[in-house]
Order: sequence, then C-alpha cells, then structure tokens
Amino acid sequence: MTEHTIVIGGGVGGMVAALRARRHGASVQLVEARDQLGGLASSVAAGGTTFDGGPYILLDQDRLRWALDRVGVDLDTLDLVVRSTLAYTIDGAAGWSVAVYTDLDRTAEELKQAEPGSGDRYRAFVAKAGAALDRLAPLLTEAHSAGRFVTSGAWRAAPWTLASLRQLLRLNRLDGPAAAATSIWTLIAGGDPARAPGPMALVPALIHRDGAVRPAGGVHQIVGLLEAALVDAGVEVIRNAPVEAIVTASGPAAFVLSPAGSFRPKWSSATSAAPLRCSTSSTSLRRLDCGSGCGAGCSRRVSRPT
Ligand SMILES: Cc1cc2nc3c(=O)[nH]c(=O)nc-3n(C[C@H](O)[C@H](O)[C@H](O)COP(=O)(O)OP(=O)(O)OC[C@H]3O[C@@H](n4cnc5c(N)ncnc54)[C@H](O)[C@@H]3O)c2cc1C
Repeated sequence: MTEHTIVIGGGVGGMVAALRARRHGASVQLVEARDQLGGLASSVAAGGTTFDGGPYILLDQDRLRWALDRVGVDLDTLDLVVRSTLAYTIDGAAGWSVAVYTDLDRTAEELKQAEPGSGDRYRAFVAKAGAALDRLAPLLTEAHSAGRFVTSGAWRAAPWTLASLRQLLRLNRLDGPAAAATSIWTLIAGGDPARAPGPMALVPALIHRDGAVRPAGGVHQIVGLLEAALVDAGVEVIRNAPVEAIVTASGPAAFVLSPAGSFRPKWSSATSAAPLRCSTSSTSLRRLDCGSGCGAGCSRRVSRPT
C-alpha cells in the first residue's frame, strides 16, 4: 500500500488504526480535535498527579497485549503488577449497596445479601457469559469469514454479539443489584444499557475469570506508549483540528476539512470534474457539520478547498 491515509480521531482506536496503516506502508496523518490524544482514555493532570480519565483497570490483558503487539507496542514495558480485587461498589437507589470483586463467590455473596436469589442468578449468568466468550474468543484474534463463524460454533454465541446489554439482562432474568453489577462497566463509561452492545455483558466473565490489573502508573500510560509509537513510526499528528466535513468526489473521500486546514488522502481525485459532496453520513464523529441545513446523514455540494 502506498496511499496517503488520513485517520480522523486520536482515541486509542484511531491511534492503533494509524499505526496499522503505517505498518502497511501508507504515509499517515492523524487528525485530532483536541490538543491531547487518547479520547475517552485520556488523563487529567492536577497537583503533580496524573489521573486516568477513562479506564483505570485492564481486563483481558492477553488480548490487549496481542492487539498492541500487532502495531509494535509492547505492553510489558509497563509495570503491570498492581492487581485489583475490588472493582466497584454500587449503591442502589433502593438502599442496597453491593461490592463487585474480581472473586465471583464474594460478589455473589454480596448480591445475595442485597437481594435473596440474585447471587445465584448472577453466578448462572457469568457461567453462560464465560461459555459465550470461549466460543467467540478464537475469532477475536484471527481474520475470518462468515463461514468460519458458523463452522467454529461461534454462531451459538450470536445473541451475545447481536442483542443489547439490556436485552441480555432481561433474557437472563437479571434485575436490581445483579443487573447493576453486570451493567456497571457500561454505566461508568457513560453508556446506556439499552443501547450498549451485547459484548458488554461478557465483561463480568472476564473479570471473574482473569481478574484485573493496572499499570503501576495508571492506564493512561498505554496512551503514552501509543503516542511514542506514532512518533517512532513517523505518523504526522495534527492536533486542535476538529474535522467538520468529509468531502467526497464520486465515492472515496477527497478532502477532510477542519479549521486547521484541509487534508487530502492520496487516492482522491483532486482534479476530477466530479462534484464534491460534503458528507456527514456513516460516521459517528462529533462536530461534523456540512453547514446550515445539512444535518447528520445528508450530503450537499461544497466548493473545492484551496
Ligand atoms: C470511565 C470509563 C471507563 C472505561 N473503562 C473501560 C475498560 O475498563 N475497558 C475497556 O475496554 N474500555 C473502557 N472504557 C471505554 C474505552 O475507554 C473506550 O472504548 C475507548 O477509549 C474508545 O476509543 P476510541 O478510539 O474508539 O474512541 P474515543 O476515545 O472516543 O476517541 C475518539 C477521538 O476522536 C476525536 N474526535 C471526535 N470527533 C472528531 C472530529 N470531528 N475531528 C477530529 N477528531 C475528532 C475525539 O476527540 C477523540 O480523541 C471506559 C471508558 C470510560 C469513559
């Protein structure tokens, strides 16, 4: 690949995408709205201490290690010795309080105290989630076809990938404290269980089986590792550049527009006579705006950027 690639958004996903494109030979610009990379996994510095603004423990560190390894980032350069046993304490509006531990028995006991019967239901749910995770896990680290989804037996775990978290809670008769213990991972990230994807229901299986670790200096250090890798790889990071529009000329993106300038992927047809269109469809990026009268999902003609 010799294209010039533009990645919009410097969260963990965008940083990894930029590194992957670079490793495949593209020249890459990473365009980030804020002055800081990391997105939801960013940190906040105050009084000489840096606080994690997003995740503060790592679940499934093996697959994280695998994913980072693919872009040449070695998780083991961080000191991962800090193990967490208590994940969260949840106080319900009905007056109950439940601590979620990495230890399943302890958590189930907490739930039982808060609501008789809920400990056993939670335990059964975690067992089912663990079985679904085992079915899906092999496919998480291999490129696969839809056929492999069927032949590997992963299709049996399809509800865990297709339903929403709330639907899975209902299907498994989880409510009250047990539903809260399962949804907490979604709620702390500001998500809505009704819209959160089914895989969020697999998190309790991960934490009770594999436990949780934290880099001694905080999870934001992973963002630091990725940032250093971007510099090493020669990715150009453009900060303070909220992309306002993705302009297309008969298909692929021709320009990406932001107050910091316009950026052009190499495959664009800058000299094409095709009309340029500003598109806000098929993206969840914030602040994309084609101008007045053009909301999400629409497109309109725009002038070619200079
Ligand atoms: C409190 C909390 C706890 C969490 N705990 C966990 C956990 O334990 N485990 C886990 O796996 N996940 C956890 N998450 C979720 C995890 O942090 C996110 O899923 C992940 O960081 C998302 O990365 P992303 O790159 O997909 O998106 P984001 O982090 O949202 O990155 C998007 C980036 O795009 C930029 N951007 C947006 N619009 C534009 C634009 N128009 N132009 C240019 N740039 C733009 C944003 O500024 C941002 O930097 C947690 C999240 C929170 C908030």
